[in-house]
Amino acid sequence: MTLFPNEPGPAVESTGRRLCLEFTNTVSMHSVPETEAPAQPVTLAHYDELVGWAVSEGGLDAGAARLLSGLSSGDAEAAGAVFRRAIDFREALYRVFEAQIEGTRCPDPDLAVVNGVLHVALEHVALGQQDGGYTWSWTGMGEDLGSVLWPIAVSAARLLASEDLELVRRCAGDRCDWLFLDTSRNHSRRWCSMSDCGNRSKVKRFYARQRGSRPGTR
Ligand SMILES: [Zn+2]
Repeated sequence: MTLFPNEPGPAVESTGRRLCLEFTNTVSMHSVPETEAPAQPVTLAHYDELVGWAVSEGGLDAGAARLLSGLSSGDAEAAGAVFRRAIDFREALYRVFEAQIEGTRCPDPDLAVVNGVLHVALEHVALGQQDGGYTWSWTGMGEDLGSVLWPIAVSAARLLASEDLELVRRCAGDRCDWLFLDTSRNHSRRWCSMSDCGNRSKVKRFYARQRGSRPGTR
């Protein structure tokens, strides 16, 4: 079941990727706080980077991004507060998907955080007229610092309430918590990316076998 038949979702959704999963993937390890893992690359360090990321993922258009950057430079404190809320939202979202992957019930407070962003997003959904028909559109996109999160919340709601939820996987790589949609034919994909975690894992197994095959070594 999809939330909307033709919702104001970003273009990224059509490629098999999901904006909400890409959002959780803006950090490698959720269990290790970024402050305690200095080696962990920080993708998002402040509000403007969040906006830049959303544009790069197709979750925000350039016009809305310009408006949001203007708002952010005019009120750095408010932008900082929205950024902290965004990170809380990201971590809650991750835990909701993590519970699904582990076959457990997700913590109610985490679902409440996701619903909090979703409720606001849905208040800004409207029908617009286009080409003699109607289309879903946003109202106030770019006029509210929090609007950068609306498309992510809609993406999450769509995925969580769809059959595709069963295809959400967590990367099997060491030190990688990335989530992805396993659209492989036999649903056997294990890594976020074969060229990254998949290769690292293969190299490790290769050396483990080499060590195991040499007498006197472990
Ligand atoms: Zn990975």
